[in-house]
Amino acid sequence: MKSDRNNQSRVIFRVSLAVILVGVCVTSLIYFLQNTNNIKAQTASEISVSTQTVSSEAESKNETKPAKKPVSITILGAGDDLIHDVIYKQAQSRAGGKGYDFSPVYARIAGDIKNADISVINQETPIAGKIAAPSGYPRFNSPTQLGDELVRLGFDVINHANNHVLDQNERGLAATLDYWATKPSAKVVGAYRNDEDLQNIRIVEAKGIKTAHIGITEMTNGLYLPKNSSYRLIYASDTALIEQLIKKAKSMADVVVISVHWGNENTYTLSDKQKTLAQNMVDWGADIIFGNHPHVLQKLTVLTRKDGTKCPVIFAFGNLVSAQQSGDNMVSGLLTVTMTKDFATDKATFTDMKFKPIVTQYGKRCTNITIYPLSQYTDALAQAHGVRRYTPAFSLKYINAIVDKSIPKEYLQKD
Ligand SMILES: [Zn+2]
Repeated sequence: MKSDRNNQSRVIFRVSLAVILVGVCVTSLIYFLQNTNNIKAQTASEISVSTQTVSSEAESKNETKPAKKPVSITILGAGDDLIHDVIYKQAQSRAGGKGYDFSPVYARIAGDIKNADISVINQETPIAGKIAAPSGYPRFNSPTQLGDELVRLGFDVINHANNHVLDQNERGLAATLDYWATKPSAKVVGAYRNDEDLQNIRIVEAKGIKTAHIGITEMTNGLYLPKNSSYRLIYASDTALIEQLIKKAKSMADVVVISVHWGNENTYTLSDKQKTLAQNMVDWGADIIFGNHPHVLQKLTVLTRKDGTKCPVIFAFGNLVSAQQSGDNMVSGLLTVTMTKDFATDKATFTDMKFKPIVTQYGKRCTNITIYPLSQYTDALAQAHGVRRYTPAFSLKYINAIVDKSIPKEYLQKD
């Protein structure tokens, strides 16, 4: 009996074990099959990400949103590239009389420009070297080798919306645009061949984030295009056009960057026009405003759009480089704004910015003009600066006082 019962329990045990093993196998098989399907789904969504970058915005919005980590890019802005005659004459002698070598002017900031994902400059002087001799103030013209240098430095966006854009008349504007047409890596804003060209918003993409660029100027020093000209500039007074362009840019890109030439020269006081236009442009959809023209470093701030979006605005960088004759004209900087795109919400927002102060240095009678980061600048350099002839107080303390007045400490880059 006992052995019978033993046999019976052994059979029951074996059957139970078999049932458990089969159960485990079936569960594993189901789990494996589900996982394989997940992997397939993931692969499909990855493929849809790579095609999304080439498909149109409208199409991509209909696709399932991929779970992609947020991506950040940096957008660098710079001041007035104001090429006085002494600057191109030095470039000519540095090149040994054959051509022009502008590289020593920018050598100490070349790394900052290269490191940014997208770099924007206000090219204050026309580059119409093909049709007219180089010239300085008041009707500027710069050799094409200057443009070559800007491209070599890595500037992606060249703004020509400024008061000197018509210094060489319509022909000079045409020659400048013809020159840039030979440099496809650089997108020109602020000067357009016709209405269609003006409506063709310049887009520069980095790491899958699209940035749109527009150039606007308050005035053109009393010079105007002929009435029948097809060429176009965007004047700050044409607010209906500006609103339309910004809204269009916003519909095409993640980030709208405005290069604007405005305000009064040699003053730290913002004009009412600057303040009003800045807030309006932010409300219409501008995400970053790079202001220029006053030739001194004006306020860096953050404006808030009606929906709460934060938008960095620098009212004026001062001169990236110049041979102007006041200590205040020597102080400027590079502003690097970080924008981060959250692919879940499909929105790019301002997450950080750093302002790196720079100083234009020259010796007696404007010799050896070059740009220094303030972090590499010394009182000995300030003492030797040719500008002390006009501003005897020029010193490190003088420079720091200007920077502290316009740039909030939290945004100041120390190195
Ligand atoms: Zn200007």
